Amino acid sequence: MSFFPKVSFQREVEEYLTKVFRNNEQFQGLSVPVLEHPKLQDVLLIPVIGPRRDLQKQPSEVIVGAQCGYAVLRGAHVYVPGIVSTSRFLKAGDLVSVYSDIEGKCKRGAKEFGGVKVFLGNGISEVTRSDIFSSSGPVNGLGIRMTEPVYLSPSFDGVLPRLLFLQNLPSVVVSHVLNPQPGERILDMCAAPGGKTTHLAALMHDQGEVIAMDKVANKVKKMKQNAELLQLKCIKAFCYDGTKALAAEEREAGQEGPPFLPESFDRVLLDAPCSGMGQRPNMAYPLTLKEVTSYQPLQRKLFTVAVQLLKPGGVLVYSTCTITLSENEEQVAWALKTFPCLQLQPQDPHVGGEGMRGAGLPPAQLKLLQRFDPSAAALQGTALDSVQGCREADLIALANKDCIGFFIASFTKRSSR
Ligand code: SAM
Repeated sequence: MSFFPKVSFQREVEEYLTKVFRNNEQFQGLSVPVLEHPKLQDVLLIPVIGPRRDLQKQPSEVIVGAQCGYAVLRGAHVYVPGIVSTSRFLKAGDLVSVYSDIEGKCKRGAKEFGGVKVFLGNGISEVTRSDIFSSSGPVNGLGIRMTEPVYLSPSFDGVLPRLLFLQNLPSVVVSHVLNPQPGERILDMCAAPGGKTTHLAALMHDQGEVIAMDKVANKVKKMKQNAELLQLKCIKAFCYDGTKALAAEEREAGQEGPPFLPESFDRVLLDAPCSGMGQRPNMAYPLTLKEVTSYQPLQRKLFTVAVQLLKPGGVLVYSTCTITLSENEEQVAWALKTFPCLQLQPQDPHVGGEGMRGAGLPPAQLKLLQRFDPSAAALQGTALDSVQGCREADLIALANKDCIGFFIASFTKRSSR
């Protein structure tokens, strides 16, 4: 989690969060560690604890959709629209076990479900079955209050919304690697919902300009709301296709938005659309092979525009939340070959591992790449009792590994002179 823009409040925020989480019934009075990241002063780390294997499953079952399931794994309660089916006689106050229908096969309103389902934990029902599946349409609001989730991950709903922004650790690292300076002009090419955009603006103390583009209109709306909530005025968001962001001719006087003339930006972030295989939590992967392989060409198109829009001497950071060689190291090898003006740079901070072999990059270049590979940490899990007795340094080391799969490469563009 990163929090901004008022970094000097870090200690107060930490104490506040510790108090909030202590009062959370899921934690039953246990203290949840809230840790300062030693290398990133605007980051507080909150380890997710689990899986808890000692929970007793209840006879009364509630099945939720996959999206709702992911939210529960991230600390949410179950809201009525997410419920797909319940046991026949469910009533308010019942203790229930909640499962995710990861293949989307459960029929709405079914009284039992024998398909593939993943246990998410236990909770107390706030509603009766007829409230959910009534002919007048489902009620909204809280459906199941999760009292024993498989993963303990405190909800941030309404917690200091003007000060905090919840992000995965590698996403926070990206903005630091780009290292935007106050007064600069930055392009965030694929920006929605704006986690990195708002972080970049905060790192610039809201001075300068962050141009944030995304192809999807609804996501751009959300990004504008996020910028407003965090009171960041230097962000200008546009709904635009990044592959078309290079102007073919002179711009009209006073034109603020895309397309832009070549060499318009001091720094460019290309947080590219990708196959998303590093995303966590993830219980099923819905993309076909054709969809997975469609990302490499799209990323190359966006990258080509990014290089042209970058000023000589500027910085270009390329990132993905996936783990495939073809969208990561192979893209770097292609970029260095296609654009001799680009030079691969060391990254600060470098808390992930180095790049993966297989794309023909020499060891010295692999060391400059940053790859987050959570596979080992994810299998191990984080037990509640181990967190209670753990040294802070060990917890931070674990948090640096137990995150989403991610990749970062940083380039500078040589001056043509
Ligand atoms: N940077 C974002 C953040 O930190 O919140 C996440 C970006 S997400 C990895 C990739 C984004 O690229 C999606 O929001 C998607 O809508 C957008 N996208 C896909 N194709 C695009 C294109 N051709 N031009 C601009 N945005 C595109």
